[in-house]
Amino acid sequence: MEEKEKTAVKTYADLKQAIVDSGRPYDHDAIERAYLMAEKAHAGQKRLSGELYVSHPIAVACLVVDLGLDTNSVIAALLHDVVEDTDITSDDVRAAFGSDVALLVDGVTKLTQMTFSSVEEQQAENLRKMLLAMSHDVRVMLIKLCDRLHNMRTGDGWPEQKRRDKALETMEVYAPIAHRLGMSNVKEELEDRSLRYLDPVGYQDINDALTKNGAADSFIAGIAEKIRERLAELGMGDCTIKKRVKSVYGIYRKMYMQNRSFEEIYDVYAVRIILNTVGECYNALGVIHDMYHPIPSRFKDYISTPKPNLYKSLHTTVIGHEGIPFEVQIRTWEMDQTAEYGVAAHWKYKAGVSAKDKLDDRIAWVRQLLESQRESDDAGDLLHEIKSELLPEDVFAFTPRGDVINLPAGATAIDFAYAIHSAVGNRMVGAKANGRIVPIDHKVATGEIIEVITGPQDKGPSRDWLNIVATSEARNKIRNWFKKERKEENIAEGKAALEKELRRNLVTIPAEKYDAFMADLARRQRLNTPEELYAAIGYGGLQLSRLMIKIKDEYARLLKEKDPAEVLSVPIKKHKASEGVIVEGLDNCVVKFAKCCNPLPGDDIIGFITRGFGVSIHKRSCPNASSGLLGEEAPRWVSARWADSVKESFKSSLEISAMDRDGLMADVAVLIAEMHLPCYAISARQLPDGRATMTLTIGVNNTEHLNTVISRLRKIKSITNINRV
Ligand code: MN
Repeated sequence: MEEKEKTAVKTYADLKQAIVDSGRPYDHDAIERAYLMAEKAHAGQKRLSGELYVSHPIAVACLVVDLGLDTNSVIAALLHDVVEDTDITSDDVRAAFGSDVALLVDGVTKLTQMTFSSVEEQQAENLRKMLLAMSHDVRVMLIKLCDRLHNMRTGDGWPEQKRRDKALETMEVYAPIAHRLGMSNVKEELEDRSLRYLDPVGYQDINDALTKNGAADSFIAGIAEKIRERLAELGMGDCTIKKRVKSVYGIYRKMYMQNRSFEEIYDVYAVRIILNTVGECYNALGVIHDMYHPIPSRFKDYISTPKPNLYKSLHTTVIGHEGIPFEVQIRTWEMDQTAEYGVAAHWKYKAGVSAKDKLDDRIAWVRQLLESQRESDDAGDLLHEIKSELLPEDVFAFTPRGDVINLPAGATAIDFAYAIHSAVGNRMVGAKANGRIVPIDHKVATGEIIEVITGPQDKGPSRDWLNIVATSEARNKIRNWFKKERKEENIAEGKAALEKELRRNLVTIPAEKYDAFMADLARRQRLNTPEELYAAIGYGGLQLSRLMIKIKDEYARLLKEKDPAEVLSVPIKKHKASEGVIVEGLDNCVVKFAKCCNPLPGDDIIGFITRGFGVSIHKRSCPNASSGLLGEEAPRWVSARWADSVKESFKSSLEISAMDRDGLMADVAVLIAEMHLPCYAISARQLPDGRATMTLTIGVNNTEHLNTVISRLRKIKSITNINRV
């Protein structure tokens, strides 16, 4: 499609035309009713560019028709912004168009409300919700992709910051999802348009190089013609040959990330040959390799080993008679449709695609990812995995028997072993790449023959591997092994690790509350007992650092009941202050002070991660904070403190009981001086029975420090007991 047509303002007449042109049986009346509802609802609203707002849902609906989706999807596309932006409710939509449409609109509305540029934890949680929505009904995601595509097509009027934010989000989340759904056209356009906002100069340079390269264009046209003639001579004339230019972003990646010049990129120009059968594809490959000299190691057979997104094709790079290399892609019609429309080919080419299985295959990875994440309850991990697994570069390596193993870039020999079979991974003791011994964390390169050396049956993986492997498949298999084989060991290891982490964070849960605290924590992680919780930590299913955030929240709540000062003494590791306040785990966050309680420096404070406006700081004693901590939004409360208290110590009061004697007070005072502790108050009183009691207020750095002071004090003669007050 020409750029002009892509960005032209769409009217309802255009949509009607697109529907007619599609030749598919749409329910015209229902679509018209949806259009009228959208038009009325958005009446008076304008887009930033000045057109009527309704032109946007119409354009999205046109894209949905182009993808070949059904009537309900077109209706949902027309109504996708009404619940969010107008008075119309989800119930209104359900009443008018039924629950299928209402669910689609709700799904798209929810996706629209999510942002992926905020706190990582929150971002990850959003991503998980998005994938869940997608696994229920992939049409929701397809409509959302059309929405984002149209917004990116028409985003030139956005302010600079919004352009960048949207572009980054598109690049990091939506384009990878389009890729993973196999929709190469949508993916490439999303990437190119994002790049145009993120690096306008880089984009322009490549675009210029492509337009200036008219010679290359006629070169590739000449090649296409020669191939057509040769195939016709050999009885394979019933084929389509297309010229293909690599996407701007595809070139950009190779130029900037692999540090190559424009001329060094072999596959800027490609010839695509589309045939009727798989057999013809391999025959045509033979013909091409006979006509031109193939570059070794540049041949990829994605027919026998499809990409994870089910992309199938033969790729080879050959050198033309002029000495210029170019890529040839060979595939069947069905493969071509699947490559361009991905998941959507299910609707668009129902006849050609064995419908349901294929669709299930395509979103199986979503379910798998969610499944593997369910136990860990670790949203950050999920984000990391999505981002790393969606990276488009794959490597292909071989087993000594010649089987191809497809791995994401950065995968190690361990990943390779687990990709063959979990039994191979679990018994792995070493690896060879092309016959040479390599370390087991060797990064697998395309074309390598990897031989996994295995040890005895009961060998088992090493826990360190969890930090080495690059695929979630390997990570899950390793965790599963530990989970199954080493239950006792996991519990012991997990318990020890948790206790160590508690000490490191100065979380001292009172002994009488310990069991209930752990049982509650386990329940929150959807585990039955504290033992299961320890075991999960032990085998790596739960990440301690993330669990600690929840523990500290709980702990704060526990302490709030009796001694707010102690909560403050939980140290905070990040040391970047915003507005004089340090918020745990968030650097440089935007901070505002809650109007309900107006906290002042010195007050005990706590932060609340708002939706979209940074962190709002409350007093710990603020009623909003206390009720909030008990409510559903408890996880969004975070520890915070005043920045200038970094060097200050915390006040702590001790009550000392002793047998009265001369010089007792002096001994205590000397010790305080020796330990260089600030002393704020000291008082002593004689008791009738020859005993004495002292009250002491000193400054300490943290509870650990305080405990040291207490144990030194205990050594002073005649002191019998020391209590914190
Ligand atoms: Mn929209």
